[in-house]
Amino acid sequence: MLSTRDLRFAYPNGGFSLSVADFSAAEGETVGISGPSGAGKSTFLRLLSGIIRPDTGSVIISGENLAQLSAKAVRALRLRRLGLVFQDFALLDYLSVEDNILLPSRLGGTLDDQVRRQGRELADQLEIAQHWNRLCGEISQGERQRVAVARALAHSPVAVLADEPTASLDAKRSQVVMNLLTCYAKEKQAALIVVTHDNALSSQLDRVINVEEWTA
Ligand code: ADP
Repeated sequence: MLSTRDLRFAYPNGGFSLSVADFSAAEGETVGISGPSGAGKSTFLRLLSGIIRPDTGSVIISGENLAQLSAKAVRALRLRRLGLVFQDFALLDYLSVEDNILLPSRLGGTLDDQVRRQGRELADQLEIAQHWNRLCGEISQGERQRVAVARALAHSPVAVLADEPTASLDAKRSQVVMNLLTCYAKEKQAALIVVTHDNALSSQLDRVINVEEWTA
């Protein structure tokens, strides 16, 4: 479903570099990414999603090598096939909860009744449905994080990349989010890659990788 080969990346200022021999996540597999702050976990997710390009090596998503696609094609693939939960949520505060949740499908050209229904169902499960028509700038951090999770799943991505998706949530809601993400992966046979510091949550994943060994 999703794999990398001999991935090497250094930020242009030369401060940090990452070298990942081989990584892969199969259909329906759930993988945790752990390691101390600054070890490169977010950088790795950015490489997987094609937001940044590696210096060498390849990222392959459902058989497509991102290095062989134009920037426009990578963006289209990201919108249609990936679900991303960013650490800072990356919501548009001037849009409603509904419009944020439906944004990837709207931009990716896949918005239909099924996606709308799924978005609404996710909002129910994540207990944010009561805010459906409110602006994202007007709801709490915990609610915003759950909007980001619903947005990542509504368009039925083949892989979900989540960067600390429970950081702003209490233990009960963290559990709800983790259950939702892992059940989604198993039901839809999607790969789930999730950065988390929480051992109780990562123990529910199929395996956990520590990125410390990747820092070149
Ligand atoms: P983690 O997610 O494990 O906390 P990050 O991937 O965010 O780690 O960061 C890894 C390292 O890369 C850090 O030293 C960070 O300062 C550096 N870094 C992150 N983003 C940039 C950037 N845009 N330009 C230069 N260095 C960066």
